[in-house]
Amino acid sequence: MNYNIAVLKGDGIGPEICAGAVLTLEKIAKKFGHKFNLNYLPVGGCAIDEYGSPLPEKTVKACLECDSVLLGAVGGYKWDNLPADKRPEKGLLELRKVMNLYSNIRPAKLWKNLADASPLKHELIKNGIEIIIVRELTGGIYFGERKSGFENCAEYASDTEKYSVREIERITKTACELAMKRSKKLVSVDKANVLETSRLWRKTVHDYCEKHYPEIELTDVLVDNMAMQIVKDPAQFDVVVTSNLFGDILSDEAAQITGSIGMLASSSLGETKCGLYEPIHGSAPDIAGKDIANPIATILAAAMMLRDSFNLTEEYSAIENAIQKVLDENYRTADIMGKGKIKVGCKKMAELIANRI
Ligand code: NAD
Repeated sequence: MNYNIAVLKGDGIGPEICAGAVLTLEKIAKKFGHKFNLNYLPVGGCAIDEYGSPLPEKTVKACLECDSVLLGAVGGYKWDNLPADKRPEKGLLELRKVMNLYSNIRPAKLWKNLADASPLKHELIKNGIEIIIVRELTGGIYFGERKSGFENCAEYASDTEKYSVREIERITKTACELAMKRSKKLVSVDKANVLETSRLWRKTVHDYCEKHYPEIELTDVLVDNMAMQIVKDPAQFDVVVTSNLFGDILSDEAAQITGSIGMLASSSLGETKCGLYEPIHGSAPDIAGKDIANPIATILAAAMMLRDSFNLTEEYSAIENAIQKVLDENYRTADIMGKGKIKVGCKKMAELIANRI
């Protein structure tokens, strides 16, 4: 099969980690007889330098026309002092908006043989962790009305959380579809004891599940309890659905207990199969150009693209197994290095993985 992929390398370690993911895709293409047509496009700081915009028109057009998008990361010291709406990160926010990507899926997985990288005690993680957080990405408090000013001679600021039934239903559908492919268990996180939006969230998730997925075991957890449970007993969770704000915080917490952010990928999807796949980390300007970044998160992002946008499940497993094999053989990049392990750079790690596919 032929697939058109827009590759947005971005800034910092972006080009290095994307090169690793492309190497993996080339090996998959060869082994499984696919053709990946890669279209390299500017985004972030490098796009500001060349085109005066973090998201040039030609990048938008190509992303809307391709089969899926692979992104490295954006940002860096050089652009840190630009006004908020001219910064590299603005390009990414804009891209999510124009592609209408409302669901963000972040699997936080503790890989076999990487337990040492987790800050949690061994007894808590001995049975492994794989929490998949499904976060609503285009609604809620991040997109609600904002105000600031003076009232009764005192300065104030306010942000508004607003959700419609339609917004909650479509993210619930994404989470249910995922849960059906896994344990058929779904946890919905809210703050229904206090917030009106959370009460609507809870009611809508229940109504939707009962009507469309009665076989799913649905549990509600309050967000404060969820934050505790993730560090107390992470193995109890599988698929978790939540709002934009809660998902932002909880997905970082879940990522942290698995060890390095260099190992975790995410996908953002909307109504179509065309998604945006990226590592969860940023452009790591402190290690850029040194060939020491971990390329695994970006390689996994490419693997998720094959599975979730192109339905290539065998190809996804081939990459996942190759990564596990390399870890079993004790190869490590600096961020996941442990005693008695073999230290390799970004390029070498990607080559080792590609060679084991
Ligand atoms: P970061 O994720 O880039 O880095 C945090 C720490 O993790 C750094 O010490 C870095 O060296 C390390 N790290 C990150 N990825 C790694 C990898 N693959 N291998 C090994 N180590 C890795 O976060 P930050 O330092 O807060 O942000 C740096 C820049 O990235 C900023 O400009 C920020 O705005 C941007 N950013 C971009 C995205 C994105 O493109 N999606 C996300 C977050 C931050």
